[in-house]
Amino acid sequence: MIALYPGSFDPLTYGHLDVIERAAYLFELVIVAVLRNPSKTPLFTVEERLNQIQKAVQHLKNVDVDAFSGLTVTFARKKEASILLRGLRVVSDFELELQMAQTNKTLAAEIETIFLSTSTEHSFLSSSLVKGIAAVGGPISHMVPQHIEQALRERSGPKEDMH
Ligand code: ADP
Repeated sequence: MIALYPGSFDPLTYGHLDVIERAAYLFELVIVAVLRNPSKTPLFTVEERLNQIQKAVQHLKNVDVDAFSGLTVTFARKKEASILLRGLRVVSDFELELQMAQTNKTLAAEIETIFLSTSTEHSFLSSSLVKGIAAVGGPISHMVPQHIEQALRERSGPKEDMH
């Protein structure tokens, strides 16, 4: 079975990577799908995010990275993916994720949404949290791969005042 893992990944964190690595054991192919979302203003362009994710998953042979716009289920059908994969961190994720899964089911009955719960050490992690910490020069090396940390340092504001 082919699983599509859609999201913003602005940027990819170790939480996302954990979900991808575990899914790579379960599915024949995992496609990480970066949404081109005109209503969001991302820190990194879609192309930058594709490169960042590609580098982070290069050790996983059955993981592809791609971008899409429009409906997730339309892209899943195009890629012959029968599974939509999402991560669940905390209870507050659940309501929106359930609504999305149920909506997608009405749009494409043959596609199932599967949730992987995050491992406890990553349950606090989100892309916006990482961006917030990076913006003030705080430590993020335990949250994102090294090349993404570097990209965040280059893109974010001045270093934390050491005095
Ligand atoms: P979106 O804008 O679609 O929510 P995100 O990049 O924020 O895009 O998240 C993509 C998916 O990854 C979502 O299912 C989200 O719940 C999941 N996710 C985000 N952070 C983590 C984490 N730390 N652990 C596990 N799953 C996560």
